[in-house]
Amino acid sequence: MAIQDIYPTALRLLGRPVLVVGGGPVAERRAKGLLDAGAKVTVVAPIATETLQSLDASGLLSWEAREYRTSDLDGVWFVQTATGTSAVDTQVAADAEAQRIWCVNASDHEASAAWTPAVAVVDDVKIAINAGGDPRRAMALRNAVATALETGDLPLRRHRKPGAGGSVALVGGGPGDSGLITVRGRRLLGQADVVVADRLGPRELLKELAPDVRVIEVGKTPGHHPVPQLEINRILVDEALKGNRVVRLKGGDPYVLGRGGEEAEFCRQNGVEVEVVSGVTSAISVPAAAGIPVTHRGLAKGFSVVTGHEELSEVPARPDHTVVLLMGVAQLRDSAAALAGSGLPLDTPVGIVENGYLPDQRVTIGTLGSIADQAEAVGVANPAVIVIGDVVRVSPFAPQHFKTADYSTITPNRPRVRSN
Ligand code: SAH
Repeated sequence: MAIQDIYPTALRLLGRPVLVVGGGPVAERRAKGLLDAGAKVTVVAPIATETLQSLDASGLLSWEAREYRTSDLDGVWFVQTATGTSAVDTQVAADAEAQRIWCVNASDHEASAAWTPAVAVVDDVKIAINAGGDPRRAMALRNAVATALETGDLPLRRHRKPGAGGSVALVGGGPGDSGLITVRGRRLLGQADVVVADRLGPRELLKELAPDVRVIEVGKTPGHHPVPQLEINRILVDEALKGNRVVRLKGGDPYVLGRGGEEAEFCRQNGVEVEVVSGVTSAISVPAAAGIPVTHRGLAKGFSVVTGHEELSEVPARPDHTVVLLMGVAQLRDSAAALAGSGLPLDTPVGIVENGYLPDQRVTIGTLGSIADQAEAVGVANPAVIVIGDVVRVSPFAPQHFKTADYSTITPNRPRVRSN
């Protein structure tokens, strides 16, 4: 049978009687597929798998423990035969043909009146593939298409809006590199009607959006003030209530100093469905871009993430407890003084990573005593992550005298990193 001779269609079997002849693993798989589609399944077979038996016991299908007879076809819309005995399958297929009932014959693919495609479901999209009578080839293709759908490589976005309301997804976009968003985040981005974007995060991905996807910029861009938080909350809710799928694309992780909690709460309070997709936080990944692990055997067992000097009195002031400062550039001098005041030695290493993972990434390394002057001298600017503690010694950008052991196994994530 040539592939052009098949006519792909989708049967709506909900509530309709169908017959499965056979009780082995193939019959079981087909019976489950038919049940998933809501069909009223009868299985005829002297012996059935445990799963078929328990589906029968729980009333989800009906198993007749006996041989097939022609009258089993009475009233059914569709039949699958998979007895493992080709004489029986041929008989079932011939009886079905005589009664003009579509039949899939598992033992004779060529003669079969209907074929079962390889199927995958991603959200509300169901794909079905027939591949020239080669089931493994069909499965391989099915898997590849399913993966591409799941990762957002294929345009999963709806063009007809359902009557119901839209939704909001707070998606952590990671520190800026397009490869550091989660698979789920990328997929939701591909389905978005509206994207509410920050200044930080994987901005390159915005260029891949379809031309009719609306991008609302709420972060501070040169010459533009950031949109106030309450206004952002309102935009999310208003767009969702219009029926749009809204992605709030955020830098790093939505729940790490990103006000994601407030946005989620506001959506829920206003009856808007909201999903939060974690992201790779800059607090951990941006140090890594400079080869700095926030914990390291023998150097630090824990870390704190804070924004500046006010919280620093609560943080352990020891070189073996890593302190990560976000949004900390303006207050760097005060923060360094606060840590020194709490007893952190002035020769504790400090690393500053600006524009982590971006083409203009820059690493500046100094000590608690020297870093504020160094930062001023080279003009350190946001966005930057500041890391304080012995772990900075591990960075390949640390000066040689910082090395108290051989940490050469550590390499930065990006070879293009420049150091000062
Ligand atoms: N929710 C975000 C943090 C938002 S606060 C997260 O989890 O990463 C914004 C701060 O994050 C910036 O001031 C800077 O300190 C840091 N930051 C985010 N992306 C960065 C990047 N690519 N390079 C350096 N710092 C970054």
